[in-house]
Amino acid sequence: MLGFQLTSAHAPVAHKAAPAGAVPNGVHKRTKVRSKSKKRDKDRAVKFIAETQDAMIQTGPTYKLPGAEKYIKSRMDLPIYQARVKLLLEISKAPTVIVVGETGSGKTTQLSQYIRDAGMDKGKMIACTQPRRVAAVSVANRVALETGCKIGSKVGYTVRFDDTTSRDTALKYMTDGMLLREAISDPKLSRYSVILLDEAHERTLMTDILFGVIKGVQKLRPELKVIIMSATLDAAKFSTYFDDCPVLYVQGRQYPVEILYTIEPQQDYVDSVFVTVLQIHQDEKPGDILVFLTGQEDIENVGALLQDASEKLDPKFGKLVVRPIFAALPPEQQMKVFEPVPKGSRKVVLATNIAETSITINGIRYVVDTGLVKAKTFNPNLSVESLMAQPVSQAQARQRTGRAGREAPGVCYRLFSEDLFRTLDSTTTPEIVRCNLASAVLNMKAMGVDDIIHFDFLDKPTTESLRAALMLIFSLGALDASGKLTTLGRRMARFPIEPQLAKTLISAERLGCVEEILTIVSMLSAPSIFFIPFNKREEVDLSVMKEFASLYGDHLTYLNVYKAYRQNKGNKTWCKDHFINMKSMKTVLDTRGQLAELCRKSNIEIRSSSDTDNIRKALVSGFFYNIAVLQDDGTYHPVSNRTEVALHPQSVLKGQKPKYVLYHELVKTKRYYLRVATVIEPEWAAEAAPTYFARTI
Ligand code: ADP
Ligand code: MG
Repeated sequence: MLGFQLTSAHAPVAHKAAPAGAVPNGVHKRTKVRSKSKKRDKDRAVKFIAETQDAMIQTGPTYKLPGAEKYIKSRMDLPIYQARVKLLLEISKAPTVIVVGETGSGKTTQLSQYIRDAGMDKGKMIACTQPRRVAAVSVANRVALETGCKIGSKVGYTVRFDDTTSRDTALKYMTDGMLLREAISDPKLSRYSVILLDEAHERTLMTDILFGVIKGVQKLRPELKVIIMSATLDAAKFSTYFDDCPVLYVQGRQYPVEILYTIEPQQDYVDSVFVTVLQIHQDEKPGDILVFLTGQEDIENVGALLQDASEKLDPKFGKLVVRPIFAALPPEQQMKVFEPVPKGSRKVVLATNIAETSITINGIRYVVDTGLVKAKTFNPNLSVESLMAQPVSQAQARQRTGRAGREAPGVCYRLFSEDLFRTLDSTTTPEIVRCNLASAVLNMKAMGVDDIIHFDFLDKPTTESLRAALMLIFSLGALDASGKLTTLGRRMARFPIEPQLAKTLISAERLGCVEEILTIVSMLSAPSIFFIPFNKREEVDLSVMKEFASLYGDHLTYLNVYKAYRQNKGNKTWCKDHFINMKSMKTVLDTRGQLAELCRKSNIEIRSSSDTDNIRKALVSGFFYNIAVLQDDGTYHPVSNRTEVALHPQSVLKGQKPKYVLYHELVKTKRYYLRVATVIEPEWAAEAAPTYFARTI
């Protein structure tokens, strides 16, 4: 059992937003008009109303569409509503403004609608970017409801492999990565009159690059309005970067939240979360619970445990309704987190850091924070990027805590000790200084940014990581010796996938196996294809891939899984029996469809080949950096660095230990593992990248 220690009661949790001091008082300029007629007939009197400074911004939210009325009240209740006119005035005056407001104040769902309803879009589109696809999808769905339209008509979203926009779309929510891709084909972003860069405080790689790109676009199109939105107060840096633009504050609401720490460190946090949630459910007053976990797998595990426990609970406690939210969840299911649950039951939302600032769920009184987040880190010297659960920053922990106090005082259960909290970084490091930049650099080159080193970055990435990225895309043949994008590079940049995968796909055409590579690439892009319920871990052999295993390795095993899935028409029982994650497979089908479409558009012939050599050669052409050689002591050494690594325990090659393997990625847990590995012939590597391998193998 867990024990909680009370710290200072009602610790202040969220930064208090400064008053709306940067905006002028009132918008009404009263002009007195006197009737000249002395004998005024009362009934015939001409009535005057105060002149408005800008008639446009007086038009209220468009409540005209049927269905929109029922959201009027909740929209008007949001803190941002009070600031609406002032915000619009400031936005109409300056080319760029920064809007800071606490999470849940209504920035994302409202501001774009105000701008549209005030006619400031001037007939062009309004874009609002989000770092995460789940946020883009769920917010767009909400705004479509509030507007009274179907998603994809006036309001739509565009995320990787899923575009719901149409000719009617005036308000478009999209991931930052998708706007960046649009800048490749339309460097002036000429379809947009207003761009809102949301969640700027998150400092994702793509948003950071967008800052520079959009600043450049504004030089060409001074009429382009840019609004930077952030949930944290440290906006000075953004303001300086955007030529000292105004910073507008939206006053938020925040009730006190009591913070509890665990007395001891928690070893198994899936179990700790489970116990804590049950504890809250049985001991605490009504109010929903929000749990922060690291990803789909943990969410599904905790979900299954809680579901089970809820059924066995004494009925006097009421039901626990479990609602997960994570990236791979289909959009219809994502929206379920917002739905209220029947009276007497309690909602438990199991979320990734998506619920930290990008979406707000009403009714939350309790937050359970594991203190962990899955984040990318890149080591340019080893060329290793890892996506690992790691401690959050203090700023993130505070944001999470604040989620319990939006509507009433709340409680936050931190599953770590106060001492540990003190050791956390105070803020999160921007992604650009800790990520693999290959994809970003290829995109920038495709946008015509030739001098990457001198690009106007808000925070400069390290020279080593820029150099590593340039080297990689140069070796793949995307750049020529002078650093200019080649024809191949241009073709690669058309695909919204990692440069190595794009190169593999393009090479597959020559080898006649695009059909197979499309499948493999889509399988690699989906999260956890296999899913073993937590309570079955003991019984089930971990190498569930065995039945589909290919002698050649994991890539071809993935291909077999996909074929079997298609043969069984995605049957639910079949998936369950084989521990295949249906949700992930749906994503695979979508991704595959979209990539196939892009192949057609790029005139890539989609043929099929049963020759496994060809499929593996195509993989080598993209992943020759990722080859490892077996050593006498039974370990592997990657050719790009000399770290000691091992085959991943779940690889079908685990018992076989071939001399040369190609791997999809190196992951670091307790040690370095090669994840998704395939047997290759060394000559293929030399053929694919002669200059590179003249030195290394
Ligand atoms: P901010 O961007 O300032 O954090 P948002 O615009 O995201 O604020 O949220 C404003 C309000 O809209 C929140 O109270 C949130 O609960 C509500 N909201 C957003 N999406 C939905 C939804 N799908 N269903 C119900 N309420 C929603
Ligand atoms: Mg928001």
